Amino acid sequence: MEKIGWKQFVGQNRIKEVLEAAFFNQTMGHAYLFCGDMGTGKFAAAFELAMAVHCESAQVKPCYECDSCRKMLHYSHPDFHVIMPVSLQKEHRSDSKLTEQGWKYISECVNERIREPYLPRMHSGIPNVPVDWVREVNHAIHRGALKGGRNIAILDGIEMMSKESANAMLKTLEEPPAGTLMILISQRLHTVLPTIVSRCQILRFSCLSPEQISSELVSRYGIAADDDRLKEVVNTGSLGQSIYLWENPDEEASIVAQEFWALCVKNDWIDIAKKIDQIALINNYSSYEKMFIQIMNLIRNSFFDRIVDTENYIMGICSPKVALDKVRSVDQLEQLLGLCEQAINRIRSRAAISLVLVDFAISVMEKLNGKK
Ligand SMILES: [Zn+2]
Repeated sequence: MEKIGWKQFVGQNRIKEVLEAAFFNQTMGHAYLFCGDMGTGKFAAAFELAMAVHCESAQVKPCYECDSCRKMLHYSHPDFHVIMPVSLQKEHRSDSKLTEQGWKYISECVNERIREPYLPRMHSGIPNVPVDWVREVNHAIHRGALKGGRNIAILDGIEMMSKESANAMLKTLEEPPAGTLMILISQRLHTVLPTIVSRCQILRFSCLSPEQISSELVSRYGIAADDDRLKEVVNTGSLGQSIYLWENPDEEASIVAQEFWALCVKNDWIDIAKKIDQIALINNYSSYEKMFIQIMNLIRNSFFDRIVDTENYIMGICSPKVALDKVRSVDQLEQLLGLCEQAINRIRSRAAISLVLVDFAISVMEKLNGKK
């Protein structure tokens, strides 16, 4: 079968097959919904698919060299649009409208995402999708493609859209002009409006295996394959999270994560309260974020026998061997990982850490023990 020339998008072979079949048989739909954990390649896949669609090469697409590919890489292709959550500062808007600086900032964020598709920007405020931006992209979609090909939009973080933004987008999704390709991205399918889900072809991204992550880190960063530190960062299931842990080593966050998770599993409320007071003293949001990434690591490790085949590392295994702990079903695993992601989002929006930890601990205990 013909292949798309993926350079950034790692693993996820089943998704590659589905997209390649649609691309080469010219049966691509008008709307896809990519869902899966953070850092599993949703944006990388969407971007390289969009590049392939616009690529002018007669050989392997995307070629990364033709005029279209270069424009895509600089986010200056007239028929390619991205919307994603950003956290605007005061100078980025006035009278709830985006200022010139605001538009410039948005474009910087998109360029950064294209350069590092596995690493979303760390926000210092509450990220959301400015409705002006949604309107502009809507307008560009209805205007139609300027170069005569397809008009493509990637809508990242759709679960973080305001109702106003989501409604603006929904109309376009219901009646897209011919030649439109919309790729929606979400971490949690169940948080997406059913009216949106029903209009999209859904592709679920699985977690990446330690072997896949390790080989990416080795080839991207020139890390020695036998470096001891590799082992500590490759069990996240997410290339994005592993890159982040590799670039920001934090021994303390890792130890605290283990202690805190162990107490949550033990259901020991007195010790948990003590631990939370202690953690609050660290007073470093980046450490808190790393701590939760490590906890996600621990949850996955406690659920699965670590030696499983590569592509189906997490999803698609019917009767996984439970290694230890009380994490029993794929559902429960999903819920626990969801709690970690919620905590990370709250940390990114600078919520009080004690509250985040208390809520997390209570929810974990409820999920594991079925009581408050
Ligand atoms: Zn090209």
